[in-house]
Amino acid sequence: MTRRIAACLVLILLFFNGTGLCAFELPPYRIDKRMSISDYQWMFKNPFFHGVMAFNGELYEGRHEPIITKRLFDRVQEVTAQKSKPKTPQLKPYLYRGLFRCGECGCFITTETQKGHNYLRCTKRLVPCTQKYVREEAIAVQVDRTIERVALESTIADKMIRQLEKERTAAAKGQEAAIAGLKADVATCEKQIDLLLDMRLNEQISETEYVSKKHILVNQKAELKGKLEAFEHNRQNRFEPAIQFVLEAKQATFLLAEGNREKNRDFLKKIGSNFQVAEKSLAVEFKYPWNLLAEFNSDLTTTNARQRENLQNSNWRREGDSNPR
Ligand SMILES: [Zn+2]
Repeated sequence: MTRRIAACLVLILLFFNGTGLCAFELPPYRIDKRMSISDYQWMFKNPFFHGVMAFNGELYEGRHEPIITKRLFDRVQEVTAQKSKPKTPQLKPYLYRGLFRCGECGCFITTETQKGHNYLRCTKRLVPCTQKYVREEAIAVQVDRTIERVALESTIADKMIRQLEKERTAAAKGQEAAIAGLKADVATCEKQIDLLLDMRLNEQISETEYVSKKHILVNQKAELKGKLEAFEHNRQNRFEPAIQFVLEAKQATFLLAEGNREKNRDFLKKIGSNFQVAEKSLAVEFKYPWNLLAEFNSDLTTTNARQRENLQNSNWRREGDSNPR
């Protein structure tokens, strides 16, 4: 318990005990049992006061009227948890703290300030390492280049989203039809089970016949219901992650334009892993499915470059043809 919390608890104790508040006690009761600090601590942690009872490690909904809201209770827990945390010494807020490892020896890369500039260097804690300092700005530029590899231009992203939405609508229509069909099959099955029972009651079929046919129908109905549940569950969900992904890739273009290094670093963490710095260069492994997008963008760049080259070649040829010798 921190000093501040202890002081707060003492104040609470003095105030409420002054009003004559007594602690709950098992029989035989003592009228003058005053609340202690630990009673107050127990009270603040007890969910009973927001309407829930804890028993044997489980929570049960109480029948009593809560005297505080759950929100207030949670807020108290938050505050006490924060205040109880031991304070760690403040570290300098370097941009890439703890993010990179050395590509040569695998040690962490640390940042330090020299003559007003931040430099990244290998901590060289495990083995001798030949890596030299690199300016933080140089790495920031490479972070941007990395993000660029998975960024989607708005026009391409919007086209992709439109296509995905179109497919989502088409799939939803197909699913609606399939769900309606399954529901009709379940209804038919139920009708057949009723009919079967009527036949049995009218003694049109034997008990053995009834049991065996009912068995088949009940199984059929369970199977149909299972399919129906699966359809309902997967409805729409399939396209949402893809749409979300394209939106994030589009967002990358805006991030690059904005040029906020903290935001770009956070985006880098989202798209990649195993960040290494060696020979003043940043190496990143793209996470799935960002790796696919990086490949797509690289193919696109190659294709565009080839097209530009072909165009230039044909222009030169045309110019050459039109020049009289
Ligand atoms: Zn190293």
